[in-house]
Amino acid sequence: MRDQYLQAMGITRWVKRELDPVSVDDIDVVEKTVAVESIALEIEQPNEVELTVVQNEESHALDELDWPSLEKQVVNCVACDLHATRKNTVFGEGDQKADWLIVGDAPGTEEDIQGQPFLGQGGQLLTAMIEAMGLKRENVFITNSLKCRPPESRDPLESEIIACHVFLKQQINLLKPKVILAVGRVAAHNLLAINEPMKAMRGHTVTYKDTGIPVIVTYHPAYLLRAPSNKGKAWQDLQLAMKIVAEATE
Ligand code: URA
Repeated sequence: MRDQYLQAMGITRWVKRELDPVSVDDIDVVEKTVAVESIALEIEQPNEVELTVVQNEESHALDELDWPSLEKQVVNCVACDLHATRKNTVFGEGDQKADWLIVGDAPGTEEDIQGQPFLGQGGQLLTAMIEAMGLKRENVFITNSLKCRPPESRDPLESEIIACHVFLKQQINLLKPKVILAVGRVAAHNLLAINEPMKAMRGHTVTYKDTGIPVIVTYHPAYLLRAPSNKGKAWQDLQLAMKIVAEATE
């Protein structure tokens, strides 16, 4: 079954991994010496980078909220113009005790209609990525930087990301995940508060604010659908994240 998911990620040939003692059973790697070496390098020598994320003055207002109250705040939010055009808010879904938090950019058309994150082809690929790691979609928590769809599915504005960050911050606070997977440039910029190209942000272990929670950056599934040759690199990112979770679980 896993082979199907790996195939969906565009990775065809697999061998048992020897250099990885992590507890996630049965981790496989691409049978390419170069790829294996670069994975080992990235996993064994992660760069620790200290960064802080954008602060929002309203942050404290939500600090005390539990999951249902937070979701109610999102449903009723009018902090930016997106409330006027949304059909539904997309709070996120999954296990509210998960070790994994996956953060994308913003809901698209289908997500806006259904009120759920990562549907359609991009969502299917994200599910394949999750399942390639031996997890199920319902075992992780999936959300976005924005809880409302930008019109025409344009890129989120910085002001929208800042306005919405309080919700993501409290989701992180409630979940306390062992790792945050930032999928795509928007999520990475939001969580790391830096404006670097993907190339510079991938492969590092950076903590979210002062929480000590590691953020791993990888490509957005929609980008991987357009540029499938990068799926191998995304798999390296996922393995780094798996290693972090396994170490945190020991
Ligand atoms: N892209 C995202 O980042 N999130 C979604 O929910 C859908 C598309």
